[in-house]
Amino acid sequence: MDGKELLDRISRQSDETEFYTPMPAGYKPGQTRYVVVVGTVMSGLGKGIFSSSLAKLLQDRGLTVSPIKLEGYLNIDSGTLNPFRHGEVFVLDDGMETDMDLGTYERMLDKDLTKDNFATSGQIFTRVLERERRGGYLGRDVQWIPHVTGEVKAKIRELAVRSNADVVFVEIGGTVGDYENSYYIEAMRELAFEEGPNSTVWVALTYIMEPQILGEQKSKAAQLGIKRLMETGVQPAIVACRCASPVTEKVREKISLYTNVPMSRVFSMHDCESIYLVPEMLREANLDSEVVSMLKLDDRCDRELAKARWVEWTNYVEGLQRSLRSDKTVTIGITGKYTAVRDSYASIIKSLEHAGVYYGLKVNIRWIDTSDLDDTPAKSADVARELADVHGIIVPGGFGSRGAEGKIACVHYVREQRVPYLGICFGFQLAVVEFARNACGMPAAHTTEIDKSMDQAVIDILPEQKEIEGLGGNMRLGGRDIQVSPDTLAWELFGRPETIHMRFRHRYEVDPKYVPTLQAHGMVFSGKAPDQPIMQILELPDHPYFIGTQAHPCLTSRPLRPQPMFLGLVRAAARRAGVTVADPVLK
Ligand code: GLN
Repeated sequence: MDGKELLDRISRQSDETEFYTPMPAGYKPGQTRYVVVVGTVMSGLGKGIFSSSLAKLLQDRGLTVSPIKLEGYLNIDSGTLNPFRHGEVFVLDDGMETDMDLGTYERMLDKDLTKDNFATSGQIFTRVLERERRGGYLGRDVQWIPHVTGEVKAKIRELAVRSNADVVFVEIGGTVGDYENSYYIEAMRELAFEEGPNSTVWVALTYIMEPQILGEQKSKAAQLGIKRLMETGVQPAIVACRCASPVTEKVREKISLYTNVPMSRVFSMHDCESIYLVPEMLREANLDSEVVSMLKLDDRCDRELAKARWVEWTNYVEGLQRSLRSDKTVTIGITGKYTAVRDSYASIIKSLEHAGVYYGLKVNIRWIDTSDLDDTPAKSADVARELADVHGIIVPGGFGSRGAEGKIACVHYVREQRVPYLGICFGFQLAVVEFARNACGMPAAHTTEIDKSMDQAVIDILPEQKEIEGLGGNMRLGGRDIQVSPDTLAWELFGRPETIHMRFRHRYEVDPKYVPTLQAHGMVFSGKAPDQPIMQILELPDHPYFIGTQAHPCLTSRPLRPQPMFLGLVRAAARRAGVTVADPVLK
């Protein structure tokens, strides 16, 4: 039975076959190939980075690629997850709240993704239970295999249809051996079999230890991890070895010997300065060509395009390396309660990196813990000390009261001391609170998120959110248009457009009844929702750079298309630091 025949039989959907895979309408067998990335030894090693870098290389050859992250947890989306444990919640344009890896894919591929690119066990089980209630299982008992795995395969093939992908990249969260992702591995094993030979490339991403006491690289954990994968019936075609330093020939030989993977596909993915260097590492190891030939996709590749894209990308990477080594530096302070975990602010860090490359300078980040600060005279010296040598500051998105008074104190300081400021979402709201308190004579002003009792609630819950309070996913989410007022800083930054588009994730907003007062004292609302009185961008015209947005501009900054509000911040910070910025290195 060849692949096509098998797929035919599977899609017949009768109660007489043991095969079961709901086949989405329009699925073209043989059109889409699959790269499946699984992790062994431990999670957090960069499966998303490997997968997105390889996807980028194939995309640059003219292939259509589409990634999907399969999460083991039972949450429906990542919206309720604590960024301290899981990294930032990344919001897609369609409002889906996802794992931070989707941000890596969007940045690397310079492409907007959708809810089709993200699955959790919660979503898969919901689909199974809904199908069961509709009588979709033809009288059979609903089983892990083939029904739950069938639903996973259906989700993957739906993505293939909707994205019309040449290659779907499937990243399975967690590590081999976890209970919660084992059915994903099983589903992909089945799918690879159904699609037939040359349809699927499995990548095992593993970890080579280098304990200081031994002073050499050890591969045992990696061997055991991959063996565990092979016990599930999966033969990896590529082993990517994460390691602090380049993996030695000897260790690569050992991995090859134990895994049936030829040396040419045992890849050293050692630490490097930036994830944007990984595509080059993969290309040097020839892995992109190997994958194209294993998947028999040579005919669909465009050599000329690949060359041009590679020149563009290597220019960027050279610019990046120059900026990392540049003696021109600026320091940007970031406040926040998750200061200990950089993953919670991944998009902001990347956005600053993109802006730094654009101006050919290095952006240092200073984390500012505001939990012990507030805006009283007793603490003003502490605030001044914390902010003494930052050239710009960001108050990022956030929730709740911890550190909020300290953030307000920082905004007060930078407004008066004329330090460049970018307020993101919560940072926008707190800028309004600070301005109301200290510039508009409203000492009690606050957000009802923190203080429900006061009568100067300049920031209050959105009327549309009130109705759905208490439920999961109850925020104003996803991409929205913003109408930009002419002759404002925002208008100039974005290149004088009528409207721009950014992504949102919030419950609270500026209460429109206070807008006239805020405006009378000099605050300009330069961006508004086109159809509702929702303030979306604020600025202070006689400040060198004071801008805030209710949106999250960091979610849409891309290496080759840095986000204008970050560009503006870094440029203003450079001015403050006395650094002359060269003409943009890109253009
Ligand atoms: N806590 C604020 C709100 O819910 C800000 C949210 C955010 O910064 N993402 O509106």
